[in-house]
Amino acid sequence: MSQKRIAIFGSTGSIGTQALDVIKANPELFSAEILTAQSNDELLIKQAMLFNPNIVVIGDEKKYQTVKAALAQTSIKVFAGEDALAEAASIDCYDMMLAAIVGYAGLKPTLNAIELGKPIALANKETLVVAGDLVMQKAAEKRVAVIPVDSEHSAIFQCLVGEGRNKIEKIILTASGGPFLGKKPNFLVNVKRDHALQHPNWSMGAKITIDSATLMNKGLEMIEAKWLFNLDAHQIQVVIHPQSIIHSMVQFEDGSIKAQMGLPDMKLPIQYALAFPQRIANNFPRYDFKKPGTLTFEEPDMKTFRNLALATEALYKGGNMACVMNAANEMAVFAFLRNRIGFLDMTEVVEQTMNKIAFIEKPTLQDYFDSDAEARNFAASLLHM
Ligand code: NDP
Ligand code: MG
Repeated sequence: MSQKRIAIFGSTGSIGTQALDVIKANPELFSAEILTAQSNDELLIKQAMLFNPNIVVIGDEKKYQTVKAALAQTSIKVFAGEDALAEAASIDCYDMMLAAIVGYAGLKPTLNAIELGKPIALANKETLVVAGDLVMQKAAEKRVAVIPVDSEHSAIFQCLVGEGRNKIEKIILTASGGPFLGKKPNFLVNVKRDHALQHPNWSMGAKITIDSATLMNKGLEMIEAKWLFNLDAHQIQVVIHPQSIIHSMVQFEDGSIKAQMGLPDMKLPIQYALAFPQRIANNFPRYDFKKPGTLTFEEPDMKTFRNLALATEALYKGGNMACVMNAANEMAVFAFLRNRIGFLDMTEVVEQTMNKIAFIEKPTLQDYFDSDAEARNFAASLLHM
């Protein structure tokens, strides 16, 4: 394999930094060509000095001078601002984009990369939740591969390798259940930010960690799976598997079930997506069947974790519903992380916003942008922000 030039959008985040570890460990396979951050100028500068990319972009324009000055002795081009972030994805200097920005902000750069014909290693699930139909349609038009990084979707993708046109009966998305598995509303009502940020199996960015605690993450992943694998809503099942060893499963028409397993470590799906179809040797810890341990499975408690029920509703309803839900959820998580609302209030905000914003059955890209903005405005009014 010749060296692949990777554009990492969101290089300072949990996924971004782990991707740079993978690149550093495999310099003959990968280089970092574009690095971007929103506000973490310090880390972005450090990464740029170490990986010598072609371009860096900082979303926050106030940080431009600092980044520019720090990299003045290098040939690295520095840009700043939201538009520059999206435009950088249109510059033809890389072979693959790792979409690792968190939230709706990841949508435009990813669309631009697809437009340019670049394969996508997709961590940013919100891109597909917001506009999955248009994103996958554009990818098909441009013959661009979208390779999942999300561990569950990477698992399903890996189970499908070699299956050609064999039909999927259903997929089984596994969920750890998060830190509050088995808890009831009388407990959840008092949960505070710092407690919700403690995930039992995975160390991730703040937003997805809260989404994992409310099970919204699994809801987003159902919608992500629908678009990635072209599934009907009823083909997607969620099962709680607290040990996070089976990362997800595919059941075929003959009833045979394939699973992908391993210790929970995001570096594995990241390197799989970057190197696909090749696998790269590594010395990550291995799962040991000789150690005592049990793999367990149970139904999710959708009455307590109502976000999963709301996301299921959005999955079945289609149109702009998931986009609206995502926008309200981003606002609610933002407010919860600032201790402005309680844990259960997040679900209230999402539900009320989904009930309020006009439903559009076949949205255009502009409709998605508008629905996102309307939903954010309405959620902000609920949050008094
Ligand atoms: P982090 O919060 O750790 O990192 C987010 C990255 O995006 C940072 O580089 C951040 O920059 C940048 N960013 C934040 N806001 C904006 C914005 N408005 N515009 C442009 N860039 C922005 O997130 P994660 O790495 O945890 O997650 C990234 C994506 O991957 C999410 O969609 C998540 O759902 C998905 N994912 C993550 C997993 C994980 O293990 N972390 C697992 C599976 C999926 P800065 O540092 O400057 O703020
Ligand atoms: Mg996941």
